[in-house]
Amino acid sequence: MSPEEFRKAGHQVVDWLADYLADPSKYPVLSRNRPGQLIDALPSSAPETGEAWSTIFADFERLIIPAVTHWNHPGFMAYFPTTSSPPGILGEMLAAGLNTNGILWKSSPAVTELEQVSLGWLRQWIGLPDEWFGIIFDTASTGTMHALAAARQFAAPEVRATGQSVPLTVYCSEQAHSSVEKGALAIGIGQSNVRKIPTDCVFRMDPAALERAIEEDVRAGKKPIAIVPTVGTTATASIDPVRACRAIADRYGAWLHVDLAYAGSAAILPEYRWLMDGVELADSMVTNPHKWLITPVDLSATYTRRPEVFRAAFSLVPEYLRTAEDPRALNYMEYGVPLGRRFRSLKLWFILRTYGRERLAAFIRDQIAWAQELAKQIEEHPNFEIAAPQAFSLICLRYKGSDDENRAILDRVNSTGEIFLSHAALNGRYVIRIAIGNLGTGRRHVQRAWELIRHAAGVR
Ligand code: PLP
Repeated sequence: MSPEEFRKAGHQVVDWLADYLADPSKYPVLSRNRPGQLIDALPSSAPETGEAWSTIFADFERLIIPAVTHWNHPGFMAYFPTTSSPPGILGEMLAAGLNTNGILWKSSPAVTELEQVSLGWLRQWIGLPDEWFGIIFDTASTGTMHALAAARQFAAPEVRATGQSVPLTVYCSEQAHSSVEKGALAIGIGQSNVRKIPTDCVFRMDPAALERAIEEDVRAGKKPIAIVPTVGTTATASIDPVRACRAIADRYGAWLHVDLAYAGSAAILPEYRWLMDGVELADSMVTNPHKWLITPVDLSATYTRRPEVFRAAFSLVPEYLRTAEDPRALNYMEYGVPLGRRFRSLKLWFILRTYGRERLAAFIRDQIAWAQELAKQIEEHPNFEIAAPQAFSLICLRYKGSDDENRAILDRVNSTGEIFLSHAALNGRYVIRIAIGNLGTGRRHVQRAWELIRHAAGVR
């Protein structure tokens, strides 16, 4: 592509994106493709000679778009939505254009220093103490895996040199995200050494059960290395008792990592600051601007008050990457597995500056209010019930009927193309989840979801 061709194609793409973002609901939220349809529609090998941009872009619209599930759609209320935003997209475009790789500070000072600045700003907004060190990973799953490796370094430093000899154990609740278990698997903890602690009637980790499990493991000759409470669990957004977990972690010399992947963004609201209570006593935490802070996937922020432990776990500097020591020239490669580093912080910096804390807080505040309003309507309806205490922008509900009936309601709603919801299992029962988090979602979309659910259940 010549610079002129690039300019023309670039304008076309930005125009397309502007139209798309103005109304993603012109598409069905959930792709209607059947499995394999896109693969079958595309040539089985790449072209020998290059093709015209106009042909390629036409195929993008004709073949790729129907295979897209629209996460930007205002009716996307499944999982935890991750919405894009114009400044975030511009940040992605410029980062790809510059294609700078922050392997070291000197390989692009902007990559390193803007990450420090933007994560510093976010840290202040959510109320973490100044000495906490931030690092961007692609996802919370990767951040938590790194935190578990740091935990192992902290509790069993000999493992770095010699590998694991004593069984090490990790604790989370039975409501924790699967990323905790996966992270433990990835670093060789062993699935049977990840203990899933029972929760109380509102899905919070039971600290007494946690302590019993730890004692049992210690008696069996195992070494507890980490406790991972969640603030805002995936199924219900419940909140584990972080302070109690801290006290227990201290008694056994274990690391405390708090998973705030979803709910952490709400801490930018003064009235939700309480959710960070005790987090300042943890060793590390993770939160995802790519969940609830309108940042295009991927951008997850891991923070730690013990960066030296992350460094002790991961620093390995071959000669060809050696640079002069300078306390202000941070090399992020020493704090985790990746060497190559995308310029992710650019999109976050654009977003934080474009909206400011007040507008981002207003966006989250509105969504919480719509969720609370809907929860009340559900509670008052004779045929439905709230399946878990309503929290943040998440609602778990059930039609007062069988699991099969609830499943059928969800399928009917999702087949409309207007709204996409997901489900969870609570106490062995099927529940429907409504998670609000998109830039384009308004109160009317939330109310429309409720209307479609009632319609699918055949009630008014
Ligand atoms: N933690 C919680 C509580 C989550 O809900 C999720 C995803 O929904 C994750 C971690 C994993 O996030 P990621 O997709 O960034 O790995």
